[in-house]
Amino acid sequence: MPTAPSPDKAAPSSAVKLKGRPERAALDRAYRVSAPQKFALSQHDPADQRFFPDKDAARASAGEDAEAIDQLQDRLFAEGKRALLVVLQGMDTSGKDGTVRGVFNACGPLGVRVTGFGRPSEEELAHDFLWRVHRVVPGKGMIGVFNRSHYEDVLVVKVRNLVPAEVVEARYEQINAFEKMLVQTGTTILKFKLHISQVEQGERLRERLIQPDKRWKFNPGDLEDRKLWASYTDAYQTAIARCSTPHAPWYVIPADSKTRRNAIIARIVRTTLEAMNPVPRDPGYRPEQFAIV
Ligand code: ADP
Repeated sequence: MPTAPSPDKAAPSSAVKLKGRPERAALDRAYRVSAPQKFALSQHDPADQRFFPDKDAARASAGEDAEAIDQLQDRLFAEGKRALLVVLQGMDTSGKDGTVRGVFNACGPLGVRVTGFGRPSEEELAHDFLWRVHRVVPGKGMIGVFNRSHYEDVLVVKVRNLVPAEVVEARYEQINAFEKMLVQTGTTILKFKLHISQVEQGERLRERLIQPDKRWKFNPGDLEDRKLWASYTDAYQTAIARCSTPHAPWYVIPADSKTRRNAIIARIVRTTLEAMNPVPRDPGYRPEQFAIV
């Protein structure tokens, strides 16, 4: 994992404001799953506030990082050699859409592609489970964001017994091999589990029912999944433990607070791009060769 972020266009003006914000290493220590054999989801507090006790500061931080992510994505595109894939997973109402909005809102639509994964179509089911995923991974220069992902195939599919247990069992290694191939061919991968408590989910579902402008988001099917909270927790625990690899780590992000969730994820995405340090490619000419009249 690269550690030393290199300077970017935004660095001089933001360096002062960056003071007091958590270092990437501290976020990694807190949230990156680096010892999967010892990993327990129950040890992660969905309401953890240790890095951004002040909500206004969290909001300002996320806003500034979102701007920097936009500039860094420009450079990634100008370099044209590598890609960033951001995987968002979490229970219903955990804030996958809100994270897309809060972290990538400053990015131009040309550079970021968001893909949601719902129930597979007949055509998708006729292929291996990674088929629909592979065709939408980000191309060189792009940031790809997955709202749900191939992990659904070891989460909902496992919890609801949609395929035999041995098929699920084989998938963890298949996912690791797939992600390794993506990394070896120039894609950096960040995987975020948006970690909310069951109580917080209850409040968010209630809000969806009560507030007329949020009612469209309420899906009665979510209540069925809510009843299976313990089974989902088990499935997440296994998926994260088995698929948190040095090349494609999982991060468990406290997500009971939307503001802090965005601030933490924006920090991790920004510092990852800084460490990648994309350099615009040589255009193959010298400017003084040309005279524009
Ligand atoms: P969201 O709930 O994320 O806003 P949708 O309403 O489209 O989006 O719901 C997506 C649904 O599709 C979820 O219930 C999810 O569990 C389900 N899903 C995603 N991938 C699969 C899969 N591979 N097999 C079965 N169901 C899946």
